[in-house]
Amino acid sequence: MEKLSNFINGQYVAPSSGRYLDNYEPATGQVYSLIPDSDAQDVEQAVLAAEAAFPAWSTMGIEGRAAILRKLSEGIEANMEAFVAAESKDNGKPLSLAQHVDIPRAVSNFHFFATAIEHFASESHQMEGVGLNYTTRKPIGVVGCISPWNLPLYLFSWKIAPALAAGNCVVAKPSEVTPYTAYMLGKIAKEAGLPDGVLNILHGTGPNVGDAIVKHPKIKAISFTGGTKTGEYIAQTAGPMFKKLSLELGGKNPNIIFADCDFKDALSTTIRSSFANQGQICLCGSRIFIERPIYEQFKEAFVAAMAKNKVSFPTDPEAKMGAVVSKPHMEKILSYIELAKEEGGTILCGGKRKILDGAHAEGYYIEPTIIEGLHYTCRTNQEEIFGPVVTITPFDTEEEALTMANSTQYGLAATVWTSDLKRAHRVADQVQAGIVWVNAWLVRDLRTPFGGVKASGVGREGGWEALRFFTEAKNVFIKY
Ligand code: NDP
Repeated sequence: MEKLSNFINGQYVAPSSGRYLDNYEPATGQVYSLIPDSDAQDVEQAVLAAEAAFPAWSTMGIEGRAAILRKLSEGIEANMEAFVAAESKDNGKPLSLAQHVDIPRAVSNFHFFATAIEHFASESHQMEGVGLNYTTRKPIGVVGCISPWNLPLYLFSWKIAPALAAGNCVVAKPSEVTPYTAYMLGKIAKEAGLPDGVLNILHGTGPNVGDAIVKHPKIKAISFTGGTKTGEYIAQTAGPMFKKLSLELGGKNPNIIFADCDFKDALSTTIRSSFANQGQICLCGSRIFIERPIYEQFKEAFVAAMAKNKVSFPTDPEAKMGAVVSKPHMEKILSYIELAKEEGGTILCGGKRKILDGAHAEGYYIEPTIIEGLHYTCRTNQEEIFGPVVTITPFDTEEEALTMANSTQYGLAATVWTSDLKRAHRVADQVQAGIVWVNAWLVRDLRTPFGGVKASGVGREGGWEALRFFTEAKNVFIKY
């Protein structure tokens, strides 16, 4: 059985404990590799390596750093097929999704921040007749990046790329559930000429290695993407240590569809925004509010479309949906479907685990599930399920749609469908979310701020926001 290693100081090394964890293939439910069960000792080694690498990396100059990050981006691109296959196998997502979304986006993340750092500028503020302020932005030092399993390399690189571009050294941990492409990244980084110790990648569980990263006194900033509960714990732990914190957390995003929308576009996009990546994208719209005049028509077309939304093993070229990421996650999703029934919901389609044939019989497949008849305040409509499960609810007025949309603790993203320009602006303004799409979904410009309000997080990623997060501002005043 293949054993993965940590990547510390430019070398692949075994965990100091000698312990390993099983890594499952969601498509088959079988263990296919072993990953290091790292702990605080491994974090200590990684921090020492990062600390030693920091002076040279942070003073190399932006051209040098940008050139290496560009090579890193090209290195992933040159190994596209291997990364795509690994991501799909590790996560359960259809090969086509890894090919069109995950890995190209990891390539773009490194390329984008390599360029961004070359254009990043700091401010000066003149006080006429008094003096001049200028602000410098310096890298922080050693930073921690912790990412989830749903878009493994995509979200891992979304943090690492700006951290490195800004001149920091990184101790990073991918999710223990999807470690493989992060493991592959070490070799690519080395080949791209990234100096030893600049990027350290540790594998293992949140409570062991993640927690040790969060608590390490020499790690001065934590960029975390994951669940709200974990984010709360990290904030409680790192806050008193005065670490910089960026927290991208859970969501329960509304998708508000007005009767004057482009019906075909709203329908086809809603199919994606509900079930892409088996509903395991933090930006998926899991609560769909439909204006009453088109409610029945939309519902019928939406449910009918599920017949073509084939759930299959990830390498099936016809698969629109693959396996969910793990057995415990599958069980959690199925328990929410049971809860929805108890709360009085009607399952319009799906609602069950799907058993495939042969080698995939033990895989973690769930049919796309559409539920109606639930009150917007019930648990099914308030708690994050993070799977192929959506609810549909009719509304009569814009106010009612906004009340329901804004009723959860979350505020990550929202989608609005209308052809009324004034309404589009009004609703976009009033919906409580960090990201709003009007007549679209998941259109991403990497320069824009990315993040949520309320329990969906603190801080923003993307563009200058990420480079500001990964640098410390210092203001200098000079008297005339
Ligand atoms: P978790 O919060 O369980 O885990 C996220 C990462 O944190 C993993 O690497 C995990 O390790 C690690 N971790 C767990 N416990 C600790 C701890 N005590 N200290 C430090 N690190 C820890 O989230 P999931 O991986 O289950 O991801 C799904 C969640 O991520 C959903 O809530 C989703 O909404 C959210 N998400 C948010 C996004 C956003 O941009 N706002 C984007 C994508 C997802 P391990 O895997 O070993 O448990």
